[in-house]
Amino acid sequence: QDLAVDVITIFPNYLAPLRESLLGKALERGQVRLGVHDLRAWTTDVHRTVDDTPYGGGPGMVMLPEPWGRALDAVAPAERAQPRLIIPTPTGRPFTQAVAAQLAAEPWLLFACGRYEGIDARVAEYAGGRMVVDEISLGDYVLCGGEVAVLAIVEAVARLIPGVLGNALSASEDSFTAAVDGLLEAPAYTKPALWRGLAVPEVLLSGHHARIRQWRRERSLDRTRKRRPDLLDS
Ligand code: SAM
Repeated sequence: QDLAVDVITIFPNYLAPLRESLLGKALERGQVRLGVHDLRAWTTDVHRTVDDTPYGGGPGMVMLPEPWGRALDAVAPAERAQPRLIIPTPTGRPFTQAVAAQLAAEPWLLFACGRYEGIDARVAEYAGGRMVVDEISLGDYVLCGGEVAVLAIVEAVARLIPGVLGNALSASEDSFTAAVDGLLEAPAYTKPALWRGLAVPEVLLSGHHARIRQWRRERSLDRTRKRRPDLLDS
């Protein structure tokens, strides 16, 4: 097994798509292990409460530390080897291909999915006492919960594990990788060579590898200049 993933959430069904497609195959092969846990299993009241009003006032609800503490103790017992805890939050460091590569080198990732206004801040502080805590943002927008972020992060990480993708080379030549100097990939085409009056760029049919490489490099630069000039600065 190359990667173990555990997810704690109040919506376990939200994570069902992780069992589809290439990741599903990696699970079947035993290359990846996936555990999805319902946070409400660690509540103690009849209503299975996971949230309460924020101290200091303000709108919305905050997730209670008690069920989270018990969930962490059960999924990652303190006396054993610890996972890297990933807490998706808009206040985290931005998720990028470089972060995906970093996470793909970890043996065990544990995700804590927040809902409402997020998780009581002491949970991350407490967990930091015994495991690496990584607060990660999917981007500068606000989702309703961490589940969609987990789907995106796990998919981006798993496809970097050798053997998960059918063709090992495809991940190494994607946008943001060293193969394209961290830029956006050039446009791609397939058959037919002429479709609805639109022709595939001549050079791609030429079989001339050096010219194709040069063309792709130019398109990659064009695209990056127009859509993501920030990538050229770095
Ligand atoms: N009050 C929080 C704030 O302004 O930072 C937003 C809470 S959001 C409504 C609820 C949960 O969705 C968060 O705890 C987090 O788990 C998840 N979430 C929302 N936006 C996210 C993003 N951009 N990246 C990662 N997770 C996000």
